[in-house]
Amino acid sequence: MRRNRRVKLVATIGPASQSEEMLEKLFEAGVDVFRINMSHSSHELAGELHARVRGISNRLRHPIGILGDLQGPKFRLGNFAGERATVTPGTDFTFDRNEAEGSSHRVFLPHPQIFEAVKPGDTLLLDDGKLRMRVKQTAGQTIVAGVEVGGPLASRKGISLPDTLLPVSPLTDKDRKDLDFLLSINVDWIALSFVQRGQDVTEARDIIGDRAAIMVKVEKPQAIDDLNAIIAAADGFMVARGDLGVEMPIEKVPGLQKKITRKSRAAGKPVVVATQMLESMITSPVPTRAEVSDVATAVFEGADAVMLSAESAVGKYPVEAIDMMNRIAVEVENDKGYEAILHAWETQPLPTAADAISAAAHAIADTVKLAAIVCYTETGSTALRVARERPSLPVLGLTPIVDTANRLAVVWGLHSIVLDSNPTSVTQMVRLACRTAFDNGFVQPGEGILVTGGVPLGQSGTTNMMRIAFVNELGEPVASA
Ligand code: PEP
Repeated sequence: MRRNRRVKLVATIGPASQSEEMLEKLFEAGVDVFRINMSHSSHELAGELHARVRGISNRLRHPIGILGDLQGPKFRLGNFAGERATVTPGTDFTFDRNEAEGSSHRVFLPHPQIFEAVKPGDTLLLDDGKLRMRVKQTAGQTIVAGVEVGGPLASRKGISLPDTLLPVSPLTDKDRKDLDFLLSINVDWIALSFVQRGQDVTEARDIIGDRAAIMVKVEKPQAIDDLNAIIAAADGFMVARGDLGVEMPIEKVPGLQKKITRKSRAAGKPVVVATQMLESMITSPVPTRAEVSDVATAVFEGADAVMLSAESAVGKYPVEAIDMMNRIAVEVENDKGYEAILHAWETQPLPTAADAISAAAHAIADTVKLAAIVCYTETGSTALRVARERPSLPVLGLTPIVDTANRLAVVWGLHSIVLDSNPTSVTQMVRLACRTAFDNGFVQPGEGILVTGGVPLGQSGTTNMMRIAFVNELGEPVASA
């Protein structure tokens, strides 16, 4: 099945979408990557979801990415007597290490790291930022804070510390167990939540190795402060606007979305824009105009993918929401202003053969009227460099490695196709590229394609050749230059 858009669609699986039938409907409506959220999935369920998605992918012979999203170090309050308490603005509130049930003046905080790191003046946000406090004093086992914005608080609600660099690993004990499981079933991407610094990614990489690609969810102010190191260390990024909009003033989120997207594009690493994209479609079959505009903005910005969360996980209209995203993406990408807006952010090639060839492919595509760029890729890195140029032609990534094709499912503009084996000569390489592009409807008789690859074949990191080939009515090359 050929998609007629460049931006990719990610859908979170949940009770509304976990049946095999619904997953297939969502794929048909346009999903390229499914997200399994480990905050809400047992290992048993995650294993079943993974098997269902792989089953659909194998049956329909179409790569589908699977993103396993780890919960990360989410901090929670202890319990309140009667499960809730009301906190009044202007009063003092104490967090302590006493496990007794809390009241409107104090509560147990089961995270010793917070007591070690917090300083007077730091902000404390409770229940997704609905309540705000400022630390007045800390003394070993207690933190006293002034309540700036009060209200009702329930047991085990979340607490965020946007000003505090916490001495915590991004992987909790639960995450480590979930990670082992996700790697054992061979998910394509692992999403790390609440990353604070580049070093957090390195720590996860030591465990993950090359068994999965790492997507950092950018959702903490500390991550913005260390963004360059995080971008250097990770394989992809998610603008996790939900938590980002709790930990940072919400009006900063659009600018940060642009900054993260621009930097990810410059690095040639995929970026997903996530959360509340079509939020009203959780309960309504039609989104708001503002939501449509929000999805369109991410597409104009050249994000690799846009994501549904609750809309597809627990909403009443998951298929309609994906169909809507698909329609918005197609419309934007056909808009007359799209190319100019997309290329307003220039990406300079690095001094490497792969980048020189990718930049040249983009330039050739603008000069000669060709139908597609076909690139041979082993690890996916060549395909990523071609996609980084955001060329106007469809890009086919040919690879004998199924895992590579699945990982690339999230990347802008790439149609990955799994080969039975690599061709053994340049002539065969050009012939197979023509044949595959022709059979999949990317080139018509008389049209040409641009082929990029590496010689010797089958070795990663060797992209060093480019051919132009025209196809005849049988899909065979008739000339190349
Ligand atoms: C987010 O915070 O925007 C996000 C995607 O993370 P989660 O859905 O895990 O809260």
